[in-house]
Parts: sequence; structure tokens; C-alpha cells
Amino acid sequence: MIKNFIVIGAGISGLNIARRIQGLNLGSTLVVEKSRGVGGRMATRRTLDCRFDHGAQFYRLKADIKELHQGWQQSGISHEWFVSSKGDHWCSGSGMTTLAKSMAEGLEISLEKEIQKVHFENNIWKLTSNKNEDWFCQNLIISSPIPQTAKLLAGVVNEQLLAKITKINYTKALIALVTLEEDLIINAGGYVEFDSGHYFSISDQRKKGVSNIPALTITMSADFSEQEFELVDELILEKIIMLFTADFPNAKIKGKELKKWRYCQPQTSFENLFLEIAPNLFLIGDAFGGSSLLGAIRSSEALGNFLIESHK
Ligand SMILES: Cc1cc2nc3c(=O)[nH]c(=O)nc-3n(C[C@H](O)[C@H](O)[C@H](O)COP(=O)(O)OP(=O)(O)OC[C@H]3O[C@@H](n4cnc5c(N)ncnc54)[C@H](O)[C@@H]3O)c2cc1C
Repeated sequence: MIKNFIVIGAGISGLNIARRIQGLNLGSTLVVEKSRGVGGRMATRRTLDCRFDHGAQFYRLKADIKELHQGWQQSGISHEWFVSSKGDHWCSGSGMTTLAKSMAEGLEISLEKEIQKVHFENNIWKLTSNKNEDWFCQNLIISSPIPQTAKLLAGVVNEQLLAKITKINYTKALIALVTLEEDLIINAGGYVEFDSGHYFSISDQRKKGVSNIPALTITMSADFSEQEFELVDELILEKIIMLFTADFPNAKIKGKELKKWRYCQPQTSFENLFLEIAPNLFLIGDAFGGSSLLGAIRSSEALGNFLIESHK
């Protein structure tokens, strides 16, 4: 069967555009996601006897996210975590993935399917997954990080346009998830961001309400992550723990685990909020709207508005 829309990627931008299309009755919609769950870089992991957010830690309450925020508030799944000089910071006590899961309700989503081939013929897009399944659609929306999108579209779309988007580079992130014998006070709010040095941020998962035992998400700086990314995992984790215990001698580490993001945040954004890179083939995500949850929403909202206009 030919779908009106297929969305590749169930991160916040993919989920948001699928919700908008469904809400506006623009046609049948399927979301295809390579991972076991939804959320993309809005990620929560259960490990070491507790729960950690190991991707986005919070969202900022701005106009584009207001409607989603109101829904999360009504469902009781988001709360204000802290206010700093940068403004308000909101999160979910059951982990940021909970917010993505609530956006996925009522959508048709096919998980653990990685799209490996895209082909355009007779005005129809054909997609083939790693499980050799084929899907067909009139409109294709791709929300994966640009390097993954570019790999998928090589030889399929205009090479010049593709070259233009592949100029967008991403920072990498190395992250240590640690549990502690007892709480370590990093500051009153439980979240610190660093302007320089080895770390990007340290986030207290117990203070946030995500873990019920003392637990921290230690996100290393873009420079550190770039430099150490290709080392073996055990060595990376050892290096992070050595630095952390030297800087925080009171920390009594109980358990530890490493998480790596090859595509963390785009270093620059594309000039448009979305891109129609070929007929009825749209690219969205934080590389277009800005490198945050808010930016990813902004991009998908802009495409939603465009689709409404073009379906009038
Ligand atoms: C460590 C870290 C910390 C961050 N902290 C914050 C924060 O505190 N606040 C904030 O606002 N932002 C933060 N961000 C940024 C924020 O998480 C992202 O901007 C946002 O989640 C991007 O959403 P997206 O939908 O554009 O992309 P993604 O979330 O990357 O979604 C893309 C989806 O596509 C899927 N996919 C890729 N290729 C394929 C394929 N071929 N077939 C099927 N599926 C595919 C992926 O699995 C993924 O689920 C952080 C990011 C990281 C990594």
C-alpha cells in the first residue's frame, strides 16, 4: 500500500511532524525508526539499578514547544527542574524519553527498521529497510542527523544540494553514567554546565527525579570527546573516571558505564527551517531549526505549516 507520508526517524522532530500530519488529516502516515524505542537523542537508559537521561537533559519553554508542554503538564509528566541565569529548565521525572513516548501515542510506528535505500520512480518514493521490507509513499520526510541522511541520499538527489548540507558538522559526545555510594552536591539545582575544560555538563539524576539512587550523567566537552572518541570504550571510561575523581575527591563511585554519541549537536544550522531536497522529499531536524529540542520542534513546525498551505 502507498502511504501519503513516511517519516524516517522517531526523534522529537519526526514524531512532531507525524503528529501534525495526523492531527490535520493530511493523509496516512508511518514513522520508521531504526532503534528499539522512540526519542532519538532525547534518550533515557535503565542501567546500574537506576535510570539516566543520557541525551537531552531539559527543554526550554519557548513559543514553539508551548502546545506540547501544555500536553505534558496535563499528563503530569513534566516539571520545572531549575531556573538559572539562562532561564527555565523543564524535564520529566520519569526520564526525557517519557515525553517522546507521549508524542508517539496514536501514531503508526515501525521500530527496529533501518532504512538503507531510497529510490524515486513514477512520483513515488520507495524505501527498503535492513530487514528487506519495502515501503512506498508520496511524501518522504527524513529527520536523521545530516551525515546519516547524506549517506542514504547519495546518488538519489541533486549532488550540489547534497554537498551543501553535508557542510554541517556535528560535535561528538562521550558520557559517563555513574552511580554513587552517597549524593554529591554539585550545586543547588543539580545541573552544572562548564564553559571550558574537560566537561560539558554534570547532571544529578536523583535531584532531577529520574533516578531513586545517587546517580550522575557526566557529559564530556566537545573537544575531549572528539579527541578520545575512537579509543576503546574501557579506556575512555577509565580516563573520564580518573579526571572526575581528581576534580571531585568526595565522590564515591559505585557503578559506571559509557555512552557515546557520534552525532551530538550540529555546529551550524542550515539557513532554512526545512529543505525540500527533491520532489516531495523533505529534510527536518535540529540541523535546520537549531541545535536543541526546541530547534528540532521549530523545524518540524515549519514543515507542518508548509504542508497545510500546500494541501489547501
Ligand atoms: C548528549 C546530548 C545532550 C543534549 N542536551 C540537550 C539539552 O539538554 N536540551 C536540548 O534542548 N537539547 C539537547 N540536546 C540536543 C537534542 O537532543 C537534539 O537537538 C534533538 O533531540 C534532535 O532531535 P531530532 O529529531 O532532530 O533528531 P534525533 O533525535 O537524532 O532523531 C533522529 C532519529 O532518526 C533515527 N534514524 C537515523 N537514521 C535512520 C534510518 N536510516 N532509518 C530509520 N531511523 C533512522 C535515529 O535513530 C533517531 O531516532 C542534546 C543532545 C545530546 C546528544
